[in-house]
Amino acid sequence: MARKKLIITARINEYMPRQPNPHVPFTPDEIAETAAACRAAGASLIHFHARNPDGSPSHDPAVYAEIVAKIRARTDVLIDSTLGQITVKEDAARVAHIEHMGGAGTPKPDFAALDTGSTNIDAYDFAAHRFVTTNKVYRNATETCLFLARKIRESGVKPHLSVWAVPFLRTVDAFLDMGAVEQPAYVQLVLTEGGILGGHPATVKGVEAYLDFMPTRHRIEWTVCCKEGNLFSAAAVAIERDGHVAPGIGDYPYPELGCPSNEALVARMAELGRAMGREVATTDEARAMLGITR
Ligand code: ZN
Repeated sequence: MARKKLIITARINEYMPRQPNPHVPFTPDEIAETAAACRAAGASLIHFHARNPDGSPSHDPAVYAEIVAKIRARTDVLIDSTLGQITVKEDAARVAHIEHMGGAGTPKPDFAALDTGSTNIDAYDFAAHRFVTTNKVYRNATETCLFLARKIRESGVKPHLSVWAVPFLRTVDAFLDMGAVEQPAYVQLVLTEGGILGGHPATVKGVEAYLDFMPTRHRIEWTVCCKEGNLFSAAAVAIERDGHVAPGIGDYPYPELGCPSNEALVARMAELGRAMGREVATTDEARAMLGITR
């Protein structure tokens, strides 16, 4: 029997600098060009953050809309926008660009990222025996999550649910149970390396610990990403266990692969999927699997 198609999400930039990997896209044109190249290499979904030309975070709704329009003009790939992560504090400000894009006549993304809990994301430096920072809390109160989920939905966009630990996954189950998010849910299992202790380790066991607690009462498609570390071990487990993969140089520069472009990384991931019996999903196939109706 043919195995489930593999959805590759390219996490193209986050707030990653261009050292050591110079291929991180910043401007709307660079992001759109990367999106098209990743689609050609096998990605069916692109996750992006708007950046200013100098690489600093942009929260300008017009820039977000420009990026979505430029991606749509070049490729049919599904689009997943950030809410700005920890760089924006107020709940309403975090989702303002999504509401803007949800307006009549404005191009809008298919997904917006929603994290279903809070965690400490300070990095620990094991060589120096100290924390690099001690106050970086990724704060997402339940009322914040429910507010953001409602605003995203009202904008005609689907939340993609990011979880950093098992309690976040239990919260996904509750959100599905109460109808705050719709099935099928697209759930991203976040793994963290580089001294960031707030997520599961990017190991086989780190992924399996999530899978032991995957809600079974609801339809869920899940994927794995790795902040600040190599995703390939976790990706192999995800591919084996009928999950999906979300690589990208926004998360990690991959010096061991010669600091590749996003599309080169996507191509390697597609090759791994095919070698393990999982053909990559087209955009239409990903749309059907993830419940995107338009
Ligand atoms: Zn992101």
